[in-house]
Amino acid sequence: MKRFKMSRRDFLKSSSFITGAATGASLMVGNNPELEAAPAEAAVNVDRKTAIAQCPYCGVGCGTVIQTENGKIVSMRPDKDHPTNYGLQCIKGLTAAEPIYVDRMEGDPYVRKDVWAEWSKPGHGDLEFVSQTKGSFDEEHFVRVPYEDAEEMTAHKVAHLAKKYTGNSIGLYGSGQLTMEGQYLENLFMKGVLGSNTIEANARMCMTSAVTGYFATLGSDTPPLAYEDIELADMIMHFGHNAREAHPIIFWRAADHKRKKDIPTVVVDPRYTGTAKGYEDINPKNSVHVPILNGDIAFLNSIAHVLLKDHKDVIDWDFLKAHTTGWKEYTDGVLNGYSPEQVQDRMGGPNHDVSPEMIRKVAGMFADATRKRLARSKGKQEGKGYGGVIIMWGIGYNQHIHGQHNTISIVNLLTMTGNLAKPGCGPFSMTGQPNAMGERFTGGLTGRLPFNQPLKNAKHRAHMAKHWRVPEKNLVTAMKSKNPGYAIGMMERALKDEVKAFFFVYATHIDLPDVDKLIRPALNKTFNVVQEIYRHAPNNLYADVIFPAATWGEVDGLYISSERRINRVEKAAEPPPGCYPDMDMVIDKGRNIANLLGLDGDKIFPWKRKKDGFYDSQEIFRDVIRASEGTDTDLTGLLEVEKLDKKTPYEQLRDLRGIQWPAPSYEIAKAGGTKRRYMMQEGVWKNKPYGYFRTKDGKVHMKLCHIDYSKREEITKKLMEFGDKEGVYTIDNIPLLKQARDMGLTPDLPDEAERGKNWDKVAKGKYPYWLGLGVVYEHFHTAKSNRSPTTRRLVPEMYVEMHPDDAKDLGIKDGDKVKLITRRGEFQAKAQVGTNSLVKPARNSVPRGYMFSPWNLSVADSADPKKNKWLVNNTSSRVWDLVSGQVDFKKLACRIEKV
Ligand code: SF4
Repeated sequence: MKRFKMSRRDFLKSSSFITGAATGASLMVGNNPELEAAPAEAAVNVDRKTAIAQCPYCGVGCGTVIQTENGKIVSMRPDKDHPTNYGLQCIKGLTAAEPIYVDRMEGDPYVRKDVWAEWSKPGHGDLEFVSQTKGSFDEEHFVRVPYEDAEEMTAHKVAHLAKKYTGNSIGLYGSGQLTMEGQYLENLFMKGVLGSNTIEANARMCMTSAVTGYFATLGSDTPPLAYEDIELADMIMHFGHNAREAHPIIFWRAADHKRKKDIPTVVVDPRYTGTAKGYEDINPKNSVHVPILNGDIAFLNSIAHVLLKDHKDVIDWDFLKAHTTGWKEYTDGVLNGYSPEQVQDRMGGPNHDVSPEMIRKVAGMFADATRKRLARSKGKQEGKGYGGVIIMWGIGYNQHIHGQHNTISIVNLLTMTGNLAKPGCGPFSMTGQPNAMGERFTGGLTGRLPFNQPLKNAKHRAHMAKHWRVPEKNLVTAMKSKNPGYAIGMMERALKDEVKAFFFVYATHIDLPDVDKLIRPALNKTFNVVQEIYRHAPNNLYADVIFPAATWGEVDGLYISSERRINRVEKAAEPPPGCYPDMDMVIDKGRNIANLLGLDGDKIFPWKRKKDGFYDSQEIFRDVIRASEGTDTDLTGLLEVEKLDKKTPYEQLRDLRGIQWPAPSYEIAKAGGTKRRYMMQEGVWKNKPYGYFRTKDGKVHMKLCHIDYSKREEITKKLMEFGDKEGVYTIDNIPLLKQARDMGLTPDLPDEAERGKNWDKVAKGKYPYWLGLGVVYEHFHTAKSNRSPTTRRLVPEMYVEMHPDDAKDLGIKDGDKVKLITRRGEFQAKAQVGTNSLVKPARNSVPRGYMFSPWNLSVADSADPKKNKWLVNNTSSRVWDLVSGQVDFKKLACRIEKV
């Protein structure tokens, strides 16, 4: 297989990325010896060390070398030996050292003063006492107490609540930034010890539409490709994916491939983004931007329609008949209802010009790319040859109230044309968090168990109970416990007094929607235990107990990137005093609470702290490997290698720069795992039968999905009541959500009749514009990159991208301070009018009627509610996809007011 290579000159030429990337390029040090860290002997009394890790930011999972001086993390450089990035990284990864010691907590845990006073009473007072100072993280409201005392109080209160109100009254919000070992233990603790199903993670808002779409069609949450397929593809499409900002290294690889092989590319996005522009800069003739708003399913179905009518040679009827179900309904359905002319009403309305000609052009490109693959595989055995079409998508495409259907629709089209389960083609979801895949792998979500299995699978429940050393009945209890609505549902249940306590582990509550009307009122009522690194983090506002935590670079463990690559994350430096790895704190609290609930905590969590005071994460990983035996994600090959070659699992992962799961045998583990999945691409091993697809019948399950706007106004009007009308909960309105999902609707609908007026002439209570929330290249989520001086200087403040003609209509000038208001709340931003704006970064264009703000800067002004004006999720809707639980942050109705 050809190794991806991009010279510094090639990179600069192919990705002349404006502001941020240009700065990023100047900081690239992997291939530039002058910028490499000076050798240790050149300095006097400086102890320099390095450690390897996966970048702590996006799910691309670039290899990074962490550099320390005298025991402190001081800088990063790209790992030139890592097969994901070969010595390149973007600005976020390169500056990942900057925020590590800024605003850090250390020392003893913080406990809210009134909670501690109550606990200190004889008999520990009222164990359900609710603090009166929530909403503030001011020092005056906290006392510092020793770690063991804070743990003891936490354990007693949680055990009391679990006994009185059931384990399911205890919730946990975990993270795609935790190590995989920590995630595995969190799930053990919640389901195995507490018997709770109220466990969610920020992966819910990131990837679960892809997860559930993969399950429904292919039978396993498995992105089937590897990054090296990018360089084998004959066409790449991106849906809801501004790869150039969200996953820069993937964009750079794809752009480099386009430049070398002149492949066609299609970017489906309401905004004209840097991704669309970057491809056009390489070759405008075979680069298409499709500015759809919400109509992706109709667009995909329409391409299928054109292929069935005009490009019959690329339909893989043999594959459909032998390896799929539902193909007849799908092909009949798209033929009958999805011609390019028929779907015109579902492309997003005025300013979303997706003409029948454009659809036919894209279908023609798709057919040509498929023909190239067919030509290469002519006369060869099924699955041999390579190329065809890759469809990538990002978080934006998942964040729909019909997100699962979005994924299914991609798989449908690729399956129909045989662009599946072969090198160089297929569906490829790009993960947001660096270890969101770890959260999926370890099953740290409602209804899941580790290794791609549902909690309702009795055989796997018994298997996990044995490996977790917990009573099987606890897992049965967890299975029977309901958490409808997933992350949103657990917050609504807290508002209804059904959830009594929350653990927040390496995740913030402000990534959830409807913060002002739903999330914060819920957290005001519950007992909240927060593991956190920064003193002024939003979670601390609602924390009853804050445990200062160690962070990336200070902990040992593993992350899994978007291509199923399990990467080493080595500890480079000791954490500040009193800060423990999240994994260690899960073990301590799990053991204490298990004992209070009458279980044997020492048996469930048998590990002892090492001499350095921390637990050995590799021991936990060996536990994970043993438990994975015989499953979809079998890793037992690593233990076989350990036995025969005397190389520990961590050493293997370090030397190979990651292994792609599954790795069920010695040979596969030695070869770096499984690159591609399905249709026997995994090979066949004794007792490890990876065959065609992972559904029960071994076939791809196709399902025709719809966008149908015939009752749009009537249904959306009801959706808009959530967060606007008191006492209306999504979990009490499941049939409504189903209807909205099945018809492919949006959570809001703007009052378009009010558009075109000056901002102060728009009628009160009217919301004329679309508002989308997303990410900006320089920042990652809401904590670290905001605290990094370099990235903060590049994009320092909240902005809203606005079309120049809308700004003119509204009477707003570039740089004006405005308020964006929805039915749920508001935030402030600077108007960034067009790409000539003086407000940074000014690089994307929005269509008329559509505004865009990044969520990364939400608390960059201040996390203190008294000063915080940039919290975008005050405006978002909580309506969720019926199966994936994901919500839509992209299509809110807003009004604009000048401040
Ligand atoms: S943020 Fe993503 S693309 Fe950038 S260096 Fe990190 S992993 Fe790579």
